[in-house]
Amino acid sequence: TERNPAQNLFLQAVTEVFESLDPIVAEIPDIEQHSILQRISEPERQIMFRVAWVDDQGKICVNRGYRVGFSSALGPYKGGMRFHPSVRLDVIKFLSFEQIFKNALTGLGIGGGKGGSDFDPKGKSDGEIMRFCQAFMSELYHFLGETTDVPAGDIGVGAREIGYLFGQYKRLTKRFAQGVLTGKQVGLGGSLARKEATGFGAVYFAKEMLATRSDTLEGKTCVVSGSGNVAIYCARKIQELGGKVIAMSDSGGAIHDPAGIDLDIVTALKEVERARISEYPNRRHGSTFLPGEKVWKLPCDVAFPCATQNELGLVDAKELVENGCFAIIEGANMPTTPEAIAYLREKNALFAPGKAANAGGVAVSALEMQQNAALQNWTFQQVDDRLKTVMASIHSDCVFYAKKYHREEDYVFGANVAGFLKVANAVQSYGVV
Ligand code: NDP
Repeated sequence: TERNPAQNLFLQAVTEVFESLDPIVAEIPDIEQHSILQRISEPERQIMFRVAWVDDQGKICVNRGYRVGFSSALGPYKGGMRFHPSVRLDVIKFLSFEQIFKNALTGLGIGGGKGGSDFDPKGKSDGEIMRFCQAFMSELYHFLGETTDVPAGDIGVGAREIGYLFGQYKRLTKRFAQGVLTGKQVGLGGSLARKEATGFGAVYFAKEMLATRSDTLEGKTCVVSGSGNVAIYCARKIQELGGKVIAMSDSGGAIHDPAGIDLDIVTALKEVERARISEYPNRRHGSTFLPGEKVWKLPCDVAFPCATQNELGLVDAKELVENGCFAIIEGANMPTTPEAIAYLREKNALFAPGKAANAGGVAVSALEMQQNAALQNWTFQQVDDRLKTVMASIHSDCVFYAKKYHREEDYVFGANVAGFLKVANAVQSYGVV
């Protein structure tokens, strides 16, 4: 706490992991002797830089850029970049820390990192987005490389932004090094199924989790928060598996469509027109927009928080459970507050933490790196099959460690322990670094 003043999100993420590790620390004396916890919670490097760019009115704007390389114990720093006005060092550190364990869980040889900027892409022209991305990369490129640090997308950063970032990287370095960024457009080194991977992966995880109670998503009423990349493909896979998504949202409010959300409309609004979700009822009879509301107040069986951190608090968790919700799967990073998680556990609800359930995105990013290195393009089916295997394996790792320490159905515990043990082993084997 003293070393990281006012970094509440980072401290929240570290506390959750460390609380899970008590029995492991007691059992393995080397963890204390080798200061594994101290080393694992101190980033290897943190880069902050000024990003000056020119808007459409010719005014010079100034933002701050960040890239935190938290751990390279298992591979190059790997994790997305977030462009959102709420971005601070605290946000990037918590995301980067979570990424260490998530990436370890995939078993794909990637370390933990994250970056971004307080730049707000909302309402910016295409030219402004491009100039910002170029200015951002003009500093960041010094620190990137296929074996050192490989960024991807996150909130506010999709294939368009990755294209501009890669273009500038290529211009500055004179290297067509595709493997230096993931989430690229298909046809320009991007992987099929990367766009779908995080959302699909969360639903594959949900499927495994429900199966432990001999249940499925078939016929279940679901709510999904957000309407961005993760939310859209999460909702699509739920529908494919027979579930009904009745609500989605953005930062302006929620839409409720009792007949089931029409995802073609949401995709057109969000991916093509870059419009607000409040437009949806104008195109869909029988649906309503609830300004300023969250999706959690609508009765459902299964909930998928897919927007942002701490978006599901204790009051929301109580409302969900009282309305019959029995499973919560995090597509976003740390969307559920610690109080809400404790309550859900007390009420015997199934709860899947983001570091396990949303690892599908980074897993397919690692597969994109593999395809780039081998100069190959795999089919959608090949990538999707690998994604299913990775998600099933993460699920079984969580279940294994939860059972081993008599914490049945505690996926938070299982994910933290499974991820930590892989990283701790690597940290120890490298000696004093
Ligand atoms: P997008 O930018 O595509 O979408 C984000 C969505 O969340 C939008 O609907 C946005 O609404 C909403 N949102 C963002 N911030 C807030 C806020 N403060 N309050 C309410 N709503 C908000 O991002 P992604 O879908 O890529 O990311 C969503 C979450 O998933 C994040 O937590 C991210 O870290 C996590 N994640 C993403 C991965 C990926 O592959 N993309 C991989 C693993 C995790 P609005 O447009 O109004 O801002």
